Amino acid sequence: MVRTGKEYLQTLKDDRAIYINGERVQDVTTHPAFTGITHTIAGLYDLAWDESQNMTYKTEDGTLANKIYMIPRSREELEERRLAISKWSEATCGFVGRSPDHVASFLAAFASSPEVFDRGGEGYGNNVLNFYKHVRDQDLYVTYVIIPPQIDRSKAAHEQEDKFLPVGVYEEREDGIIVRGSQMLGTASAVSDYLFVSCLTPLRPGDEDYALSFVLPIHAKGLKFYARPGYAEKSPSTFDYPLSSRFDESDSLVVFDDVFIPWQDIFVYKNIDIVRAQFHETPAHVLGNNQAQIRFSNKLKFLIGAARKVAAMNGIDKIPSVQEKLGELASIAASVEGNLLASEYNCIIDKNGVARPNPRFLYGVVGQQETIYASTIKILRELCGGGVLQLPSSYKELINPETKDDMYQYIRSTGVGAEEKIKLFKLVWDIIGSEFGGRHQQYEMFYNGAPFVTKGFSFRNYGYDEPVQMVDKFLGSYSLPTQVKELI
Ligand SMILES: Cc1cc2nc3c(=O)[nH]c(=O)nc-3n(C[C@H](O)[C@H](O)[C@H](O)COP(=O)(O)OP(=O)(O)OC[C@H]3O[C@@H](n4cnc5c(N)ncnc54)[C@H](O)[C@@H]3O)c2cc1C
Repeated sequence: MVRTGKEYLQTLKDDRAIYINGERVQDVTTHPAFTGITHTIAGLYDLAWDESQNMTYKTEDGTLANKIYMIPRSREELEERRLAISKWSEATCGFVGRSPDHVASFLAAFASSPEVFDRGGEGYGNNVLNFYKHVRDQDLYVTYVIIPPQIDRSKAAHEQEDKFLPVGVYEEREDGIIVRGSQMLGTASAVSDYLFVSCLTPLRPGDEDYALSFVLPIHAKGLKFYARPGYAEKSPSTFDYPLSSRFDESDSLVVFDDVFIPWQDIFVYKNIDIVRAQFHETPAHVLGNNQAQIRFSNKLKFLIGAARKVAAMNGIDKIPSVQEKLGELASIAASVEGNLLASEYNCIIDKNGVARPNPRFLYGVVGQQETIYASTIKILRELCGGGVLQLPSSYKELINPETKDDMYQYIRSTGVGAEEKIKLFKLVWDIIGSEFGGRHQQYEMFYNGAPFVTKGFSFRNYGYDEPVQMVDKFLGSYSLPTQVKELI
């Protein structure tokens, strides 16, 4: 089944332990830090529920499901998946990174390769399949924490000052395990249904107690979320902060205070090799990144749209040097979109019949993500000048009889009145200058790993045989002159 936004909101009303501003949140659907994002996500579910959007499919088991859970088996199905996922990122202008389609992509990929999990012992592959079918058929929202907390990155998990800083096995019981410790960084976890927990960072020999992969409901006993400040909470209105007020998905440090995990919810148990293999031998990492780039591509389109409008509104869009900057933005956005389409067009069908986006093109963008986003924001900043700060503190100056005449007199552009100008420039400030905007710069730089990690993905996935052969062939086309050779 696919669920409605109302049904999603209903599932959030449980006794989950979310802490913000020193207090436990009673209801995320009404709390000012979370109400914006929960209602945005509800809107996404309503969109998928609307048959005319073509966002559902018939599963291999004959059930009706949201395409976010689709296992693509051809180029055409990859395209179908992209068109569906795109609708969600268009609706959020690319500003919700961990919408339900992100981890759904990982879970679909896990389910396509249960044999990888069975290497750890019989039954783990089945656990994966059962969980996948459960969340797919109930249309549930899963987020993840797959990075150990930032404490001392020079040490392995088992070498940290305390045994249970990163989450690890505290006790093994007949019916399951007790886990203790913490993990970062639960984006949107506070407003999701389930958490997937594992470790993407390479583990070292001795780290077996941390070599885990499991799922648990957000309201599980002992599971706690410490959220960073909520940007929506500080946003006086949607007119003044159109993105912060609706798309702040929140990030949390997640603490496991002796949480019980039954065996059926464990995918990998104390196995360093399979923790790595689940991401890179199954199509999980490529399908997860494919979703991320569909979102990113739409976000860039939105940003260049904003830049184009700012330039036109300020009457600078005919200046050649400004057009050069707009052209640079256009070329960045077109390259990202082009790589996305190339990865789909040149997909590789794996041994399980899954269409994997081509890693050369996929990771080509991953390796540049931090510079792409930073360059885009820099140009947008440059085009705006101080216009984003000559705005009134809120929309209220537009209605106060003492101030409104000045607003309409002095904040304007040729043919554009105060309301329209303030609206656009406040949106741009939310992109480049608000706390929400700053968090997005951090997000695009780190959501897929630190830059030294993402460039490693590009290095490992380019496929150097072809370029090296090209150079070898060329080198083979000439040699030292014969007379010189005779002298050697
Ligand atoms: C906004 C945001 C949202 C996120 N959401 C999620 C989420 O939903 N789920 C999740 O699991 N994770 C999430 N993450 C975490 C993300 O995966 C990590 O930030 C990322 O893996 C990098 O880890 P780190 O932040 O601990 O940085 P570190 O690994 O500590 O790296 C920080 C810097 O230290 C230097 N450095 C560290 N180690 C080395 C090394 N070995 N070699 C060279 N230089 C090094 C580099 O300069 C690097 O940039 C999120 C992060 C952000 C910022």
